[in-house]
Amino acid sequence: MSLKVYNTATRSLEDFVPLNEGAVGVYACGPTIYNHAHIGNFRTFLFFDLVHRHLEWSGYEVRFVMNLTDVDDKVIEAAHAAGTTIDEHTAPFGDTFLADCATLGVRTVDSYPRATRYIEPMVDFITRLIENGHAYPADDGAVYFSISSFPEYGKLKGIDTSTLISGARVEHDEYEKEDARDFALWKAATEEDEAVGAAWDSPWGLGRPGWHLECSVMSTTELGDTLDLHLGGEDLVFPHHENEIAQSEGATGHPFVRYWMHVKHLFVEGRKMSKSLGNFIRVRDLLEEGYDPAAIRHLLVSSHYRGDLNFTREGLKASGAAVQRLLDFEARLVDLQTDDVAEESALPDLAATVVVGFRTAMDDDFNSADALGVVFGFVTRVNAELDARGTVSAADRDAALEALRSMDQVLGLLEVAHTSRTVDDDLATWVEQMIEERAAARASKDFARADAIRDELAEKNIVLEDGAGGTRWKVVG
Ligand SMILES: [Zn+2]
Repeated sequence: MSLKVYNTATRSLEDFVPLNEGAVGVYACGPTIYNHAHIGNFRTFLFFDLVHRHLEWSGYEVRFVMNLTDVDDKVIEAAHAAGTTIDEHTAPFGDTFLADCATLGVRTVDSYPRATRYIEPMVDFITRLIENGHAYPADDGAVYFSISSFPEYGKLKGIDTSTLISGARVEHDEYEKEDARDFALWKAATEEDEAVGAAWDSPWGLGRPGWHLECSVMSTTELGDTLDLHLGGEDLVFPHHENEIAQSEGATGHPFVRYWMHVKHLFVEGRKMSKSLGNFIRVRDLLEEGYDPAAIRHLLVSSHYRGDLNFTREGLKASGAAVQRLLDFEARLVDLQTDDVAEESALPDLAATVVVGFRTAMDDDFNSADALGVVFGFVTRVNAELDARGTVSAADRDAALEALRSMDQVLGLLEVAHTSRTVDDDLATWVEQMIEERAAARASKDFARADAIRDELAEKNIVLEDGAGGTRWKVVG
């Protein structure tokens, strides 16, 4: 195994060596479930999934944890606006998020901790930080982390903390911090917090956890003091992950994370996504527009996670065509009339080479763009070999098919395409009836009727292919 990852903490490509050989503990900062996740969030979540799948494909025993933030300022504000509690407000968004993940083929992870279920460990964690001299309760009912107690603060982002405002005690309407840089681990509950069920008893009075604290506690509770991999979107490097390091290392005294990885934000139709531009796209919007989940997945993993990705509907169409090419290739192999006395073909060699090339690309900091290039190169070469020979032995065919399906365990494209194209029996029966009716129309030279049937099927994304053995049909994206 020679996986290399780009570690944000060292700003360099490093050999990936987990704490315990053969096993990997991963923590990923998941969504705040106060609203629907958008396509930009899903670039990040699909990268998490690629990491998850590639590690498992490489033979690691993976424990993958992704939190769902169900209490923070945004959640409270949204629950208050909806006139409900945080539990009631977040439940459906959590469900929708997991459903969208399933639609896009994101593998289920081992644990989805929710912050509100970890209040007791959070209180314990803060108590330890106070005992270790890294935190202090203030007069306003909050507990703050003391940045000056942790000289390494700023190491992830690579900033000199002395450039941050520090020193003089800052008096503020709401805060009683000793240092302007200090951040809240625990906040006193306001009336609004209480009204939406976001207030818990603690040694410092009724209050609620700070957002940064939640991830430190859930990750170390689930995975131990030191995590192999910590993943997140690039906006989380500072202050969220910087604060996680300070809290976790301050409380446990051990290194918190071996490798930090961050996913770059995408552009939508050439522009940054923002509320003011109103260009937030949700997965379900795209599905309602008729786009195929496998095409969405393809587009989101088609560029390297640290590179630019411009999400466009044109791009989605191209991704749909790419997925269709894979499906057609797979179908060609499955349906191939094999001939066991055929001379040995190039397929076994091509199959062995493509898997090595694919692994090399993915081992190079999860370069899914290069990995896809390798796969499509394989499709072209195998198609050319089949065109030239007409037939190959079953063993040669199986070698190519196995290579394709093995790589798809990481890519998940055929997997999602098959799932989303599984049609129910009623639809299948109807399609078969339509095909019979069309054959009858053609036999009686009623070509207008035959064409009308073809169009009606096309409207439901069903494409007919007339061949020597009769008419076949398939669902396209
Ligand atoms: Zn987090």
